[in-house]
Amino acid sequence: MREKEFLALQSFNARYFDGRSSISKSVILELHDTFVRIAELDLSYNFKDIEVRAKLKNTPQSVTFPNGSYCELGAEDFLSINNQGKFILHIESKMKYALISFAVLGVFVAFCLTYGATAASNILAPHIPKNIVERVSVQTFEFLDEHYMEESKLDKKKRDFITKRFNALLNKNGSLELHFRGSSFFGANALALPNGDIILFDDLIEIEEDGEFRGIIGVLAHESGHAAHLHGLKMLIKSSVSSALIGYFTGDISGFATSFATIIVNAKYSREYEAEADLYALKVLREYNISTKYMADLFDKMKKEADSDSGVLNSIISSHPAMEERIKKFRENEK
Ligand SMILES: [Zn+2]
Repeated sequence: MREKEFLALQSFNARYFDGRSSISKSVILELHDTFVRIAELDLSYNFKDIEVRAKLKNTPQSVTFPNGSYCELGAEDFLSINNQGKFILHIESKMKYALISFAVLGVFVAFCLTYGATAASNILAPHIPKNIVERVSVQTFEFLDEHYMEESKLDKKKRDFITKRFNALLNKNGSLELHFRGSSFFGANALALPNGDIILFDDLIEIEEDGEFRGIIGVLAHESGHAAHLHGLKMLIKSSVSSALIGYFTGDISGFATSFATIIVNAKYSREYEAEADLYALKVLREYNISTKYMADLFDKMKKEADSDSGVLNSIISSHPAMEERIKKFRENEK
């Protein structure tokens, strides 16, 4: 009972039975001050004339009218009489959350219409509560594990070496976590989730030629840049905007339920995000005096792999546009 929302003077969905046949009709039952009304059937009855059955567990509550017709409420909703003799409607808490999310969606759409989707995502991303970011990320990770990733086959020594370097150079405040996975789908690639989980795929490590994995460190720095700039979250917000706007104008909000996993699997980061992450990587590499040569070399190899293997659709090349240009930038910054 405590989690139920109490609302008076409400309208709610119910099924109407005429009392003669078993055919029902879905109607909206309005609860007024002293009477109930079904507008579409032009029916209204005083409270004193209707019979409201007590709510039994798991069976819909029924409201019977004087002519023998009756309404059944939703399985979780029910009516009761308060101490002033008035009916009050108890709507299941799910409804409350649905209403809150609709309100949030409304504010959000208004925000986007006013400031534009990119600006709105920049403003909103830092304010998404941590527990939501965590939940979205964990669900995404589980989804990817189930459908697109397998356990890493890389030997433990290599993994430990890379993890040690990663933690020392990129994860000083402990906000990131490095994970190793195999994936024929993602190929030679790495990706960052909004909560700071960074996934490094075996294929990428396999094509690295530098014994100290300095190219890999560059790629991980790049992914840390995506995490630090909240790119994943911003992308999620932006992609929600389009479906939210479609929902706003068409009333169909099914698209709004898009998960981050489908975004990660299908989408590409914008050129602007890539440049921002590259810049972040350049800064880190410069800070530790690591030549960008290794990252440029690794990118070159990835590009060659992707060019020769058209089957690896989701290689780092396709998720990181304008590769040539970017390799050039790293070469220019080579020390
Ligand atoms: Zn990137």
